[in-house]
Amino acid sequence: MPKILCRCENLIDLTPIPCPDGFEMISEDEMNSLYSAPSGAAEDFIERFRRVSQQVYKCPYCGRLLVFWNKDQKATFYNLDPEAANPPLDKT
Ligand SMILES: [Zn+2]
Repeated sequence: MPKILCRCENLIDLTPIPCPDGFEMISEDEMNSLYSAPSGAAEDFIERFRRVSQQVYKCPYCGRLLVFWNKDQKATFYNLDPEAANPPLDKT
């Protein structure tokens, strides 16, 4: 039963599929390349998507994001900024 230990010491259970704390992240460049791929069955699209996407898990306890860049075996941790607020967009 695969599990990931978050820095807050919460154990994220990866056993359920789909994992409720799991996400797939994809760059805009890779997404554009998928648009130009030949159309096919949904299974083909999902296989191509998974090949270029990054696995992300969100700790349900502390909100950290654990990103497995480039299918790495170790996650990079991103801590939630409690003071984060969206700055106004520069529309100039
Ligand atoms: Zn955590």
